[in-house]
Amino acid sequence: STPLLTEKGAKSSVTFNDIAGLKEAKTEVMEVVDFLKNPETYTKLGAKIPKGVMLVGPPGTGKTLMARAVAGEAQVPFFSMSGSEFVEMFVGVGASRVRDLFKKAKEKAPSIIFIDEIDAVGRSRGKINAFQANDERESTLNQLLTELDGFGPNTGVIVLAATNRPDILDKALLRPGRFDRHIYLELPTKEERIEIFKVHVRPLKYAKTVDLGTLAALSPGFSGADIANMCNEAALIAARKKKKEVEQSDFMEARDRVVGGIERKSKIISQEE
Ligand code: ATP
Repeated sequence: STPLLTEKGAKSSVTFNDIAGLKEAKTEVMEVVDFLKNPETYTKLGAKIPKGVMLVGPPGTGKTLMARAVAGEAQVPFFSMSGSEFVEMFVGVGASRVRDLFKKAKEKAPSIIFIDEIDAVGRSRGKINAFQANDERESTLNQLLTELDGFGPNTGVIVLAATNRPDILDKALLRPGRFDRHIYLELPTKEERIEIFKVHVRPLKYAKTVDLGTLAALSPGFSGADIANMCNEAALIAARKKKKEVEQSDFMEARDRVVGGIERKSKIISQEE
């Protein structure tokens, strides 16, 4: 997905209704919503509410969507940053941005902080390419660890982070009291793809003959983001052909384009590694 600009406490209008499939992940995430809405239930028994939750899963499986839905369902402000924002920053900027973000989120507690692509700042310090400048990344990571340790467990701020590379994360991030909870988001099964198609054809004007079961069967390996993309492409194709409704053939043409896009992307990834 597109890198997020730092978001400053906007309310999220995303709800669990916008997320199809991912049943288990949703159940686990609902607990986080309850921590934000009813903290006394936990604190009066002496429980410490978790501070950090890591959303783990392949690109486009709905990690950002899930984080926004937590904020939307709990009706709390959503603060976000993307780990990749810091890669090209001047020394010191990353750390002060992190400090700033936590300060604002604490002022507006209960609130959510979302850190997308945390692996960009949080990759293991042992596995650094010696030819890359890592000072900035490292000071940003250190600041993040300091902030996580610096607020109490019951301050009403919960930090959600997303990664598709849990294997490269610095172990320091995963220690108790930091991101010690993991929620896994998998690529959707065929049945789940049908559900995701239903969400994304909702805003479209499409023919009654469109068969979502067939579309789901013909899109193995597609993520939710791929399906969203395919549905919009189909509508663009139909519009270009001056049709009154999006037809099955438009979806099929869109599918081929998305498949082409996925193949190009995986080629780039394999060249990187
Ligand atoms: P990345 O790792 O690339 O940042 P991500 O896991 O954060 O991806 P999102 O940005 O949440 O994925 O998903 C992109 C879009 O794909 C969403 O805005 C939504 O339109 C669609 N999408 C993904 N998963 C689902 C789902 N389970 N149900 C409905 N739509 C979905």
